Amino acid sequence: MTPLEYASTPNLDELAKMSACGLMTPLQEGVSLGTDLAHYLLFGYALETYPNRAVIDAIGEAIKFDEKTLILRASFAYVEEDDLGYMIQSRFTDGLTDVEIKQLIESIDCEVNGYRFRCVHSYDSHCFVLVESEAHALSSALSDSDPFYAPQYVMRVEPFETELDEAYQTAKAINTFLKRTHGVLSSHRINLNRQTRGHELGNFILTKWAGKWTKCPTFFEQNGMRGTLIGKSKLLKGVSDYMGLTYQGYETFEQAVEMALACDSDYVHLHTKAPDEASHKKDPFLKVKAIEAIDKQIKPLLGFDGLLVVTADHSTPCSGEMIHSGESVPFMARGKYVRRDRVRAFNEMDCGQGGLRLTGSSFMKYIQNATDRGQLYHLRTGRKRRNFRSVEVNRP
Ligand SMILES: [Zn+2]
Repeated sequence: MTPLEYASTPNLDELAKMSACGLMTPLQEGVSLGTDLAHYLLFGYALETYPNRAVIDAIGEAIKFDEKTLILRASFAYVEEDDLGYMIQSRFTDGLTDVEIKQLIESIDCEVNGYRFRCVHSYDSHCFVLVESEAHALSSALSDSDPFYAPQYVMRVEPFETELDEAYQTAKAINTFLKRTHGVLSSHRINLNRQTRGHELGNFILTKWAGKWTKCPTFFEQNGMRGTLIGKSKLLKGVSDYMGLTYQGYETFEQAVEMALACDSDYVHLHTKAPDEASHKKDPFLKVKAIEAIDKQIKPLLGFDGLLVVTADHSTPCSGEMIHSGESVPFMARGKYVRRDRVRAFNEMDCGQGGLRLTGSSFMKYIQNATDRGQLYHLRTGRKRRNFRSVEVNRP
């Protein structure tokens, strides 16, 4: 059984009996996503327009940058150099204090052949690298220097799925910056002090998820609904701020459920990371506990009389090595315009017996239809085809 099958979930099962049920595939069966891209797709945006996670993270953390800036997620890491390259001992240097990071960061801001590099601290050993240039075009089509799965060597940054010269040039500048930074950090007195004390060094900046900000249509323009996201992470704040959703943070999930019921937005997105976090600990019974707690906490939602959807942004396995996985996730929707099928319980197997098959990109369309907002496909109301009736007047 999956943890969701095994858990006792009377409230979710009650909802399932009144719902249309099925499975949703965030992108493609077998492709595992992070929360950021999974939400971007759920909210009706195309994969090809995704600005990449560094941008979303930076927006969520209120880092100041503009559309000319190339931004990379980064972390202070500890590497040891051998004949083959920089072997990563620790992807996130343990125990670096904010004071130490501030001084390390001050030492690495520099210019490499017309590319200006600036580092901004985020939290713990994490930071952002911002690249600007008047002389060169910057490309965000770049591979990561952070291999993510350790133990491995630092990877050379390369153009990613492009032959554009500006990507080669940007990658080259970043590689030079990374090597230069390693030299500066290795001889920095903070690291020399740490070495004497036997502490891990912060002698490399590992980069990943390069992106550039581009303007996107607001959630309202894209979906015809005013939206609120009730969440508990800077990443989801970043997603919300990027597309103009109202973001509300919460302390406890009970409180979040109350906030959702009190919210007067057309679309309210209530998110909890609890099952995901439990899965990351690779303990199925911890996940069962998280699910059972949610089942109790959502009880007040059963009285909601609008369209109520329960699903997940991605699958998180609680065994094996994978962080997230590419299975479809269970989905159910209860509302007055929704068919009711014969599924009696909310979990992967029972929902698999239901009639719905959605992808992340059909999620909003499903909602527009199920809330009676849809419009005929062939109507051309505005510059772009849309699946919802226009609520704004385009005057001649
Ligand atoms: Zn996760």
